Amino acid sequence: MAVDKIALYRKYRPHNFDNLVGQDHVKTTLINAIKGNNVSHAYLFTGPRGTGKTSTARLIAKALNCANLKGDFEPCDECEFCSDINEARLIDLIEIDAASNRGIDEVRDLKEKIQFAPTKSKCKIYIIDEAHMMTKEAFNALLKTLEEPPTHTYFILATTEVHKIPETIISRCQRFDFKRVSSKAIMTRLTYIAQIEGIEAEDKALEMISKYVDGGLRDAIGLMEQLTSNGELTSEHVQDVLGISDYSLIDSLFEKLTEKNTKDSLDIVNNLHSQGSDLRQFVHEFIQHVRDNMLMSVAKNDMANVAEFIKIIEILEKAQEKISSSTIPQLPLEIAIIQITQSPEYHAVEEPTTQVIRQEKDEERPHKKIENIASVQENEETKFDLNLENLKQYWPRITERIKTPALKMSLRESAPVSLEDSVITLEFATKFHKEKVMEHDNRVELEMIIKDFFDHPVKISATIKEIAIQPKHEKYLFYRDGFAFPLL
Ligand SMILES: [Zn+2]
Repeated sequence: MAVDKIALYRKYRPHNFDNLVGQDHVKTTLINAIKGNNVSHAYLFTGPRGTGKTSTARLIAKALNCANLKGDFEPCDECEFCSDINEARLIDLIEIDAASNRGIDEVRDLKEKIQFAPTKSKCKIYIIDEAHMMTKEAFNALLKTLEEPPTHTYFILATTEVHKIPETIISRCQRFDFKRVSSKAIMTRLTYIAQIEGIEAEDKALEMISKYVDGGLRDAIGLMEQLTSNGELTSEHVQDVLGISDYSLIDSLFEKLTEKNTKDSLDIVNNLHSQGSDLRQFVHEFIQHVRDNMLMSVAKNDMANVAEFIKIIEILEKAQEKISSSTIPQLPLEIAIIQITQSPEYHAVEEPTTQVIRQEKDEERPHKKIENIASVQENEETKFDLNLENLKQYWPRITERIKTPALKMSLRESAPVSLEDSVITLEFATKFHKEKVMEHDNRVELEMIIKDFFDHPVKISATIKEIAIQPKHEKYLFYRDGFAFPLL
């Protein structure tokens, strides 16, 4: 098994820049350097394990030595030098593991050895892996060499812990930060490998592995191989071995939480616990799931849902910290579920049991509490005359009473502009918010609240402002990973 694992990982190491997964920024810069005959004599590759640092270092070695670089400056992968590098037998490519005893000696000897010209190829390349493990003496020796590197010599330092590399070394290197590979890119690569290798892999199994490895492609390939038995990779097996939660439970808890169904949500957690599931791992995966939904809502500009998802994530993150130290491991998660499902801002119908929690929450926000009391008193004692002036003046207070988050959100973008025969016309900046408010249930909820406030029945109509003003969150968008984010 162990031998096969190495074989499979080695087999699917990127043999050219085109096959390098998830590091496009590194790829582009390096290919340009090769094109311009401008390859630096010292590189520092930093980033998490298994993201392609040493593979990229070997690609540079290939590109510098290849006898027939292709038109797009890719190594040919066929010539003597390319083959020797693939087989790890090119004498002028010296790979040093700084973490090993031998590595320490090798770095110490660098200064003398480095003066010799390459034996066979055009360039001599030193790849120093785990470079942060070098001793002070070794760093000093390397520093002298980096100050005046011989023309034929190149250094590539790879590390997962760049903060342990002296500034003097960093400043002499061109630095590349390798990113965690996205789970989507890992999934694509695993699917490709499974096809070539004839592994019957369930998509769900590959997805689980892709998410589990936290951006490390090498680990993903290793796991895929390890978990394949008799040419099959099943999600059930992956789930068992890695202790990954059942995705259907994540889905159903998500559904129940967003429905504010406290009882069913608590049942799911109790089932998880009695099955012996790792609750911390479950919460971790669940938060990821909510995050995915949050980013999707951002992309759709559905800001009411985004606010709700942020709230769920914040509550669950606090619970996650407490799970290990709690005497009843499922308790922090249960409390979190109650907080989420009974949260006053997202609760359509208030039940008596919510009172205590609501009061606690209000105590955290004293100004809100005062406001609430004030509005309750007004509600009971004072009724205002229904006229346009009062409508405008008390509009923020009226909208504050809305229970449905999406409606509340959309009303923030509205203003009452006319009142005729008990018909209130609201003006909106965008069609989106106008339509949201005019949805049947939302419109009725708003009409009821206004009726309560003025003790007078009303109807709502809506228009769009002539000169459209962009809602606040559309003004300040920046893009990352293909998603649009509001700058809050
Ligand atoms: Zn070649």
